[in-house]
Amino acid sequence: MVYVASDERYEVMRYNRCGKSGLKLPAISLGLWHNFGGIDTYENGRDMITRAFDLGITHFDLANNYGPPAGSAEELFGKILARDLTPYRDEMVISTKAGYYMWPGPYGEWGSRKYVLSSLDQSLKRLGLEYVDIFYSHRPDPETPLEETMLALDHTVRSGKALYIGLSSYSAEQTTEAVAILKELGTPLLIHQPSYSMLDRWIEGGLQDVLEENGIGSIAFMPLAQGMLTNKYLNGIPEGSRAAKPATALSESRITPEVQRKIRALNQLAASRGQSLAQLSLAWTLRGGKITSALIGASRVSQIEENIAALTHTEFTQEELERIETILKT
Ligand code: NDP
Repeated sequence: MVYVASDERYEVMRYNRCGKSGLKLPAISLGLWHNFGGIDTYENGRDMITRAFDLGITHFDLANNYGPPAGSAEELFGKILARDLTPYRDEMVISTKAGYYMWPGPYGEWGSRKYVLSSLDQSLKRLGLEYVDIFYSHRPDPETPLEETMLALDHTVRSGKALYIGLSSYSAEQTTEAVAILKELGTPLLIHQPSYSMLDRWIEGGLQDVLEENGIGSIAFMPLAQGMLTNKYLNGIPEGSRAAKPATALSESRITPEVQRKIRALNQLAASRGQSLAQLSLAWTLRGGKITSALIGASRVSQIEENIAALTHTEFTQEELERIETILKT
């Protein structure tokens, strides 16, 4: 069936300005790290992407290595773009990244100009696009001079293959240094993509200040801690969940009794607010307006619908915030 986007697609979503740039991002964005690879069902991926777009998710996040196999998420997204979303390309913000292992030999990962530029060319081919909206350095490279990686990012914009550039998982210090180099080059850093959730708060120790001081936006990955901050693992490890699958980043051993104690208490608090735990977790991630967008993953359409409904209740009382701190400390 031919996909036609919903006329109501801009009625529910909130759009936040990305730092001090001209670009706005949806408060919730969709990432294609898991469940959109060659091993997954194409129709389910298509349903999730088109439903997300109908609900106002204009931003889709990819990377060269998403799959498995590596590259297959970009291929799947490219197919869906060509089949369903071409008329809406200018309503979409599509990102990809280079940094992790992609091909054998010394030029297949990290941050050299050689790798970064050829990786983007490969991504564009898989996506069937002439440019991406945001191109990221996926991780800092301890061996390549930062200037070289930043010059490569600057080049992607100058050559018309990316509109904006971003960094992912760079520390506060590395970000400060990169921001200065990029300013001098004339291609400002648009956005930082760090992990952030109630169970992972490293960015509060300096990175958030650097981003705020420099007018840079942020998009938080794993805001649901890969599903731990939802109702999924309240009573064990359900079949088919990420933790039950082999070779994912979420091993069963991460769902400890301590984590379960915390998520059960958070789940009660969520219920008292009339929310699910996933909705509470997303509202918390977005609290205070410091985070531009919460970057979720999903394995089915219903999760995307539930998660977007978080936006109907994102305010917290002081008492609720204190209760969360107490739960997280126990
Ligand atoms: P989340 O923390 O949002 O976890 C997503 C998983 O949580 C889903 O796959 C699903 O698990 C479960 N889930 C989501 N919603 C619900 C719900 N309402 N109820 C129950 N379970 C739910 O994020 P991800 O770990 O998937 O990461 C999101 C994106 O962030 C990635 O796709 C990628 O774009 C980006 N990312 C970037 C990284 C980087 O280095 N820059 C690293 C990691 C991610 P299940 O499959 O078990 O149903």
